[in-house]
Amino acid sequence: MLSEITEPLCQTFAPPADLEVDAWARENIVVGAWSPWEGKFSTDRTPWIVEPLRILGRPGPRRLTILGPAAGGKSTISEVFLAWLIDNAPGFCVWYAQDEEAAKEFAETRVQRFLASCERVSRWFPGNRHAKRTQAIHFPHMSFVIQAANEGNAQSKHIRHLICDEPWMYKPGMLAQLHKRTTRFAHNRTIIETSTGSLEGDEVDQAWQQGSRQRWQIFCPHCEELHVPRWTFDRADSPGGVKWSPKAKRENGTWDLRAVAESTTYQCPTCQTHHAATSANAYIVNRNGSYTLPAADSMPNHFSFHWNCIASDFSQLGAIAVEFLMAKQAIKRGDTSLFQEFTQKKLAEAWSGESASAEIKYQPSDYMLGDPWAEEARRFLTIDKQRDHFWAVVRAWSANGNSRLVWAGRVSTWVDLRNLQQSNAVPDRQVLVDSGYSATEVYRECCRYGWIAIKGEARKGGYEFTNEDGVKSRRIFSLTSPADPGLGTAEQGMTTCPLVLISDEMTSDALALFRSGEVAGWTVAKDTPEEHVQQMAARVKRSRVLPRTNQTVWEWATVGKHGEHLWDCERMQLAAAVMSGFFDHSKIITTEEKNEG
Ligand SMILES: [Zn+2]
Repeated sequence: MLSEITEPLCQTFAPPADLEVDAWARENIVVGAWSPWEGKFSTDRTPWIVEPLRILGRPGPRRLTILGPAAGGKSTISEVFLAWLIDNAPGFCVWYAQDEEAAKEFAETRVQRFLASCERVSRWFPGNRHAKRTQAIHFPHMSFVIQAANEGNAQSKHIRHLICDEPWMYKPGMLAQLHKRTTRFAHNRTIIETSTGSLEGDEVDQAWQQGSRQRWQIFCPHCEELHVPRWTFDRADSPGGVKWSPKAKRENGTWDLRAVAESTTYQCPTCQTHHAATSANAYIVNRNGSYTLPAADSMPNHFSFHWNCIASDFSQLGAIAVEFLMAKQAIKRGDTSLFQEFTQKKLAEAWSGESASAEIKYQPSDYMLGDPWAEEARRFLTIDKQRDHFWAVVRAWSANGNSRLVWAGRVSTWVDLRNLQQSNAVPDRQVLVDSGYSATEVYRECCRYGWIAIKGEARKGGYEFTNEDGVKSRRIFSLTSPADPGLGTAEQGMTTCPLVLISDEMTSDALALFRSGEVAGWTVAKDTPEEHVQQMAARVKRSRVLPRTNQTVWEWATVGKHGEHLWDCERMQLAAAVMSGFFDHSKIITTEEKNEG
């Protein structure tokens, strides 16, 4: 192995590193015209890269997970470290990019030029031109390779310095595989992972969580306090964060984007002073900035750093605010991709939209929709009403709480719903219609057909219930006084229908257990329609830290563009099964409490 043979040799003539990496870079690197910061290398305008660079200069093993916005200085950290290690800590070094194209582009446009700009490095360039190719340089004392993170490039060789660029775009498991290649150098290896925001729960997000979780804080020159900058604090209209003039909103509700860009400021959440998005202020707020303290529970020698565009692109906040509004607008059209990009590439935060599909662990069973089922005790039809259509689920339940999907999909009219009920032989009193939308109309139709109205409520703890023995418990539903659609007299038929109230939180938590495969028995058919799969993935539970109390709260949120109507129908199914006694709801309460903890 080249690096192993030559490492001791070269250490005899390489001077010991007595400068911090950032100081070494200031002395030895001249940045070329390809960079926005041409000239002698400086960290004056990018002070958030200093701390990571200093950690990289420490002896012993270290792993750095660096999350920052696109073009926010992440690659500079890896480049500076690369130049420094060639001079000070030689060893086989591989730089991985997400694919061949990215590797090639990066080699051509940045790395080669960066290394050439440093005399301490270029003096090592091999005389033999064949030893210096675009994506590999074989120095006399070590080799450096830039390649794509794929199976073919993840084999055999032992790596001392591993640099992973945008690892969230690698195939799942690839990052762990690359780490294994460094085990020979467990005593002095370097692992750098630089990434924009990844996906909640993926390898990069986990790496961030396991590390020291240090966030870059900016400095308010008015109140002289430090804080981690955020786009908004608490609610969008709470003080603090990126703000623009309300006058930029036109009378028809659209934004005058130029007026937005020109009026954008950053408001300090502490003293509420507005700071103009200028390059002078960008310098001031960052010059005195610093990282938060390392988390006490981080893995040894694992450092994770984060900064967002508010710090690194402070003078560009006007243009970024426009991007934000356009991403928000796209969401209204059902497209979340721009907002995802904004979250990952500007705020450098993990995106949670795709994690719901990861939560789907149940496998389709081997029956087809509508197949007869010997265990069936009862079936329900649950209906979610939209403005001009419906979503519906027919599900069969056994007495011990197992269930099978019979039908799921979109329905156009009340008459079609009646036909669906009859063709699936669902008794009237086992049809439940969500009355959260146009309640009067729902009550009227429930009265007409003998159906039951059902409505979700934000009742985290459910409903208190006292049984015949006086024992109090909480349950997920409550039967209430009949709902009256104002139909008039009894001669016209039923004038009221029963209304069931259910806890949104408890039914969601319970259904999530089935979705995650934690509780067995709830199944879907082999030919379950795609919308059912998509909409079952549309709800995720997210944690949020309340700014004042630092308390973590968990909230259900809708993600993706498919809507959550069938998820809601399935929640109603669950409530119906609990009411029928097919399903022990104390189990649900226990789980609810577990989630709270
Ligand atoms: Zn302030």
